[in-house]
Amino acid sequence: FAREDLEPFRKNFYRQSEELTSMSESEAQELRMALGNIKIKGSGCPLPVARWSQLGLTSDVMNFIMRDLKYELPTPIQAQAIPAIMSGRDVIGISKTGSGKTISYLLPLLRQIKAQRPLSADETGPLGLILAPTRELAQQIYEEVLLFTKGDEAINAVCCTGGSELKQQINSLKRGAEVVVATPGRFIDLLTLNMGRLLTTKRITFVVLDEADRLFDLGFEPQITQIMGTVRRDKQCVLFSATFPNKLKNFAMRVLNSPISITINSQNLVNENVTQRFQIFASDDEKYQALVRILDERMKNEAKLDPSSGVEEQTDDKAIIFVSSQQICDFLGRKLENEGHIIQSIHAGKPYQQRINNLQKFKTMRNSILLCTEVLSRGLNVPEVSLVIIYNAAKTFAQYVHTTGRTARGTHSGDAITLLLNNEISSAFILRKALREQELLLHDSSSVQELQRMSEKFEMGIKSGKYKVSQGFGGKGLDSLDLKRKSKE
Ligand code: ADP
Ligand code: MG
Repeated sequence: FAREDLEPFRKNFYRQSEELTSMSESEAQELRMALGNIKIKGSGCPLPVARWSQLGLTSDVMNFIMRDLKYELPTPIQAQAIPAIMSGRDVIGISKTGSGKTISYLLPLLRQIKAQRPLSADETGPLGLILAPTRELAQQIYEEVLLFTKGDEAINAVCCTGGSELKQQINSLKRGAEVVVATPGRFIDLLTLNMGRLLTTKRITFVVLDEADRLFDLGFEPQITQIMGTVRRDKQCVLFSATFPNKLKNFAMRVLNSPISITINSQNLVNENVTQRFQIFASDDEKYQALVRILDERMKNEAKLDPSSGVEEQTDDKAIIFVSSQQICDFLGRKLENEGHIIQSIHAGKPYQQRINNLQKFKTMRNSILLCTEVLSRGLNVPEVSLVIIYNAAKTFAQYVHTTGRTARGTHSGDAITLLLNNEISSAFILRKALREQELLLHDSSSVQELQRMSEKFEMGIKSGKYKVSQGFGGKGLDSLDLKRKSKE
């Protein structure tokens, strides 16, 4: 089309919620980690949202989602992709099957096309085009479009796939369709029908390639390229897929215009050689007693393995106890020493030489115990650590991943046990997300239920805006935690 024929259209509809503007870069990183480890490529990606209300949706849409569909919170892909798409960007969204990709593009698509001049009597549309690889998928997406447009006179949607009644599709299209959901082959057939008078791509401003990996596998690349060649260049285009193989990457880079790529990598960040455990307590005193029990147990086992008892091999099973402050570190250190435990302790308030000495003793003595603040243990690499005791439950995912990662270095395995107070609900939320099924089975069911209750309480608070995922983050100095480096260490 000649440029002068193209009407200008609006792409950017997103205004970041007030609640998010105060979020720091590290808090955003924490939120992305909490939301299934969201990875972003490309510049200028808006922050993910924690709740529906932060998306600036109309109250009708909000009510429909929350009251009728009963979707309490956006899924991770929705939380990040909707702000990105609504701000007008081309987006690649990679997230596993069943993670809610449809709404991720559907809400922004409907918003964008509703803002445009309606189809005139002699225009058939569409404004928004959704391409899917199979008839069944197209039909399923079409039904979801109907859900969100029912009762809305301004939007008519038609599903165009091979194998179904062509005449009926033509009749529906003649009445004008703002949204077309189609398989690529059938869409091209319809474009060429009646010398191109039935359907044109002239007013298309939003294109979705859904299940892009399958579109590609089924050999639709030429058809898509053909379709894209006729759509205006400044269209908005998004691509969603469960997987993102290289050949698809090349194709995406050709079709999309400086896209933001969003990958949800729900895979657990905690090293799989670490066995995670937890215990919940009603008071600090109970918690302290539990710590003493754990250390006593270790001492007993150590005595059993003493070389004088006839066992040849000398084992070295070190432990680290993490606490949240220098004061707790000093206090706990004294208390444990009074109980007869030999403890090396380090924190940033101790003289440098003393820190070096204590660390050296910890490294050289067998079965030694290090007591330290989380901040000071950054980068600590002692292969013999087989137990991490998190005495003050982690307040952030970053912190939890980091502290548990002090054990099970390399190919070793280790245990990480969190001692949790029953009012530490944000930490319970972190633990609940991090613990794997088989690890839950190691605990008695009442503990698991209590953890679940605490975690749910926190999640309710996120919904109502009372809590933030990164609550308690401030001032911990974890701003530039580099997880990539961590995994290579
Ligand atoms: P995908 O395209 O990623 O495979 P779908 O968009 O088909 O996933 O969604 C999978 C299911 O999850 C659907 O039944 C959908 O209705 C439901 N769903 C979508 N978003 C949410 C949400 N935020 N909360 C709960 N359920 C949701
Ligand atoms: Mg899908």
